[in-house]
Amino acid sequence: METKKMRFETQLIHGGEPSPLIERAITMPIFQSSTYEIGADSLGEINYHDIRYVRLNNTPNHLALHAKIAQLEQAESAVVTSSGMSAITSALLGLVAKGEHVLAQDNLYGGTVHFLKEFFPQMGREVTFFPADDTANLAQYSKGNTRAIYVESTSNPLLKIPDLKEVVRFAKKQGLLSMIDNTFPSPANFNPIPFGFDVALHSATKYLNGHSDVVAGAIVSSKAILQKLMPLFNHLGGCLDPHACFLLHRGLKTLSVRVSYQNSSALKIAKALEGCSKVAKVIYPGLPSHPDHVRAREWFRGFGGMLSFEFDGTAIQADQALKKLKIPFLAPSLGGVESLYVRPATASHSGISKQDREKLGIKDSLVRVSIGLEAPEDLIEDFIEVLN
Ligand SMILES: *Cc1c(COP(=O)(O)O)cnc(C)c1O
Repeated sequence: METKKMRFETQLIHGGEPSPLIERAITMPIFQSSTYEIGADSLGEINYHDIRYVRLNNTPNHLALHAKIAQLEQAESAVVTSSGMSAITSALLGLVAKGEHVLAQDNLYGGTVHFLKEFFPQMGREVTFFPADDTANLAQYSKGNTRAIYVESTSNPLLKIPDLKEVVRFAKKQGLLSMIDNTFPSPANFNPIPFGFDVALHSATKYLNGHSDVVAGAIVSSKAILQKLMPLFNHLGGCLDPHACFLLHRGLKTLSVRVSYQNSSALKIAKALEGCSKVAKVIYPGLPSHPDHVRAREWFRGFGGMLSFEFDGTAIQADQALKKLKIPFLAPSLGGVESLYVRPATASHSGISKQDREKLGIKDSLVRVSIGLEAPEDLIEDFIEVLN
């Protein structure tokens, strides 16, 4: 079916699906085969990257998923990867050469920061971190060998939205490759490629799959950029197994109903938390009090399912109170059907000194919540009982 001009919800279901159906199966079957027969017509002239093999990311399960994700992000191409970090590290290594420099936002996902700080320089690349709210001065951080600029559409755990318009404008003016981690909004809430970014990256572990049962990622870009990247990516070997492809494919189809429900629940819960006596501050882009509320309203279709709040008390008091929550689990990760919470100072940001955390605005009493698909009323009752 030709779905390019159809709406997002229809593309989620029908985009990239095989046509005609394979053996009339309504659902894309799993091709649990590592290798494929070489046709007699290509004998003697086959190119290595044209062999059909799971690591070369070209089995029927891969191809259907690539076509679907590309359509959802309104991009030319996409490739799925074995994790979000595989997407991020492969794209950075493949698109930024030895001797080149990357400008990176300062409050990125912990794994990305660690990779850029510790390993990127060992591999002959350079990085400079710029404050997310200082995009007006990007030229100050830029150098002669700057090749790319790397940001996140919504940061963790303060849910900051950098001036993405300015990032794109600066990148185009300077001829830099613009890269964005779009995990938090997911394509249901934001599409970076039509916005002007060159490369969008995903931890598909989160909203894209949405069920906390797969680790996967995706790189989304133009045909030309992915063609440049694929030979290295194929050798790095960060391919997604066909069965995981199937699970991701299945999870993706409900992205829109999940995320719109999560957008709506998170806003209700954020408002309810604002009225709780043990909550000092609620951080949610959907609240007018959030410093980037106007950007979120203008650029995103929804404010997302992630919210954070500062507990009014010490970190120990916060832990003691939150232990009494009945519904959300204390666990890292996000974007699944079940609500999860963490205190970033002891989880995602535990590798950073208290001083550096405070500089980033992350207090020890800060709690991050990923809103799941439970009834928002039940979650509100649970939070109020513990935090009021
Ligand atoms: C989880 C996450 C990653 C890493 O993804 P994995 O699938 O765990 O490798 C990268 N970026 C963001 C914003 C994330 O939330």
